[in-house]
Amino acid sequence: MSKPVVLLDPGHGGYDPGASYNGLREKDLNLMLALKVADRLDGVKVLLTRERDIYLSLADRVAISRRAEPDLFLSLHANAGGGRGFESFIYRGLGARDPAVAMQKALHAEIMGALNRWEIVDRGMKQAAFYVLRYNPRPAVLIESLFLDNAREAGLWREPPFVEALAGGVARGVQAALGVPPGGAAAGGARESGSKSAVSGGGIAPGTTLYTVQVGAFAYLENARQRLSEAQRAGFSDAYIYQKQF
Ligand SMILES: [Zn+2]
Repeated sequence: MSKPVVLLDPGHGGYDPGASYNGLREKDLNLMLALKVADRLDGVKVLLTRERDIYLSLADRVAISRRAEPDLFLSLHANAGGGRGFESFIYRGLGARDPAVAMQKALHAEIMGALNRWEIVDRGMKQAAFYVLRYNPRPAVLIESLFLDNAREAGLWREPPFVEALAGGVARGVQAALGVPPGGAAAGGARESGSKSAVSGGGIAPGTTLYTVQVGAFAYLENARQRLSEAQRAGFSDAYIYQKQF
């Protein structure tokens, strides 16, 4: 019996830092968490959409999932925007029997359990039309771990015991979602170590052309932020603000 496959997707990267507050950049935290989770996963074959600080579009990430055919696609993010706590997402159009529904439950329960002693607010198991969920041909879950614009929660991301607990919770959640017993004694398989690998081929090849879509130019930051949050609500979670001085 071959091992189940998880494709970990650290959100953002390269020139897209994601949420940046309190001296933290989301892209760095997402990657750090993914690598820690990968190290802890026994009995599961681990793939990563990126294992370095490179830019991948949302379409790139979905294309990687289509090619790799994982049993679970798990996108790792941290939140911002004036809240606190942990939340998880699956695509909002799924039926109750879709495998992603049970996987979200397993992940969410393990992660909230692991964060228990930090009294993290449980924002719930949610559904949304985020691009990497909506267009993913494989069961896909996205997690938002704490708010970087919240001083206490940004502080927790700097505390190794917290980050290790979070990584442990995510790893156990992946195992639970994929039916692998804790400790990784997977039925019928000899344990391989170090079997994580990036499938993005090191990111975008030299010579590749990337096209940026602009949806507005604003003299006031507030208006730009407004348009950004509209784009994010529409599912373009990799939308960002680019500042240019004239
Ligand atoms: Zn993000």
